Amino acid sequence: MVDMKRDNNKSTGVNDAVLQIKDLDVSYYTDAGRAQALAGISLNLKAGEKLGLVGESGSGKSTMALAMMNMIKPPGRIEGGQVIVDGTDLMALSEEEMLKARLSKISYIPQGAMNSLNPVMRIGDQMLDAIEAHDSTISKNDMKERSRSALESVDLDHHVFRMYPHELSGGMKQRVCIAIGILLEPKVIVADEPTSALDVVTQRQVMETIDKLRVQLGAAVILIGHDMGLMAQFVDKVAVLYAGQIMELSTVTEMFTDSLHPYAQALISSLPNLDNKGEFQGIPGLAPALLRLPSGCSFHPRCEYVMDICQTDRPLPVEINGRTVACHLHTNKEPAASQVIKS
Ligand code: SF4
Repeated sequence: MVDMKRDNNKSTGVNDAVLQIKDLDVSYYTDAGRAQALAGISLNLKAGEKLGLVGESGSGKSTMALAMMNMIKPPGRIEGGQVIVDGTDLMALSEEEMLKARLSKISYIPQGAMNSLNPVMRIGDQMLDAIEAHDSTISKNDMKERSRSALESVDLDHHVFRMYPHELSGGMKQRVCIAIGILLEPKVIVADEPTSALDVVTQRQVMETIDKLRVQLGAAVILIGHDMGLMAQFVDKVAVLYAGQIMELSTVTEMFTDSLHPYAQALISSLPNLDNKGEFQGIPGLAPALLRLPSGCSFHPRCEYVMDICQTDRPLPVEINGRTVACHLHTNKEPAASQVIKS
């Protein structure tokens, strides 16, 4: 039976990171050249923590999810780095070992997951298949018990086990996918825009389901998306991704009230609020093509604080009071105010 009562009260000190990503690099090799999709991504997450990963389309959010699952396919390639879940470096596992690690160590709920259900198979059979593919040592009875227990955990009646996908609503199908994702009690759940195709009420129910499971399993959750409102309600920390690099990682309160990086500031101020009467304020310029990244800081062509150094030197992430930021305004290389180039 799925034990949904894993102890969530253990210490969450720095050494208790259940997920450590170190210097993760991913590139895609195309006829037009190499596109660096992720560059030197590093972050830690403790059991029970919730991280939001935000950024514009093409910033590398979904690549990061796939890389964490070791699911990057050619022409993509993981070129370096580690993804350590509960002490195991997933990047060092064989294909067979990685298959076992998926669902049991790290689970991925992809965008539009509900459309991935097989329309001609009962939900229960799809759940049993998922368990068998990842751990064939579990007995049939245990598999059934786990499946029913997982359905219960996402607030679905056990009758759903015998139903077909077309008999369920969109929200129910999405909850089935979440139930499949937690069948083997993963330590880390990566949810890529899990509510994008759902109405607002169902979105909330799905997010509450993920949050309930986070507490029950003591799992860390990474929520990928661009809905800053959803992030504000759901996550503890936010990482802002731009052109494959984490520009800032702060707590959600710090990010919304006192963001450090100019791109994060532009993202926050682009949100409708009472002052701008709900009008959308875009960020000037376009996100760069990964095949032709600007020199230096990849945000420099759009940054209102751009300096000489920004055009030549890529800013490395630095830690400031527990926050991470990659911007020359916050490094020792910051030049005198007279050198600031106003764009
Ligand atoms: Fe702007 Fe320079 Fe900071 Fe990049 S490094 S965000 S260009 S100030």
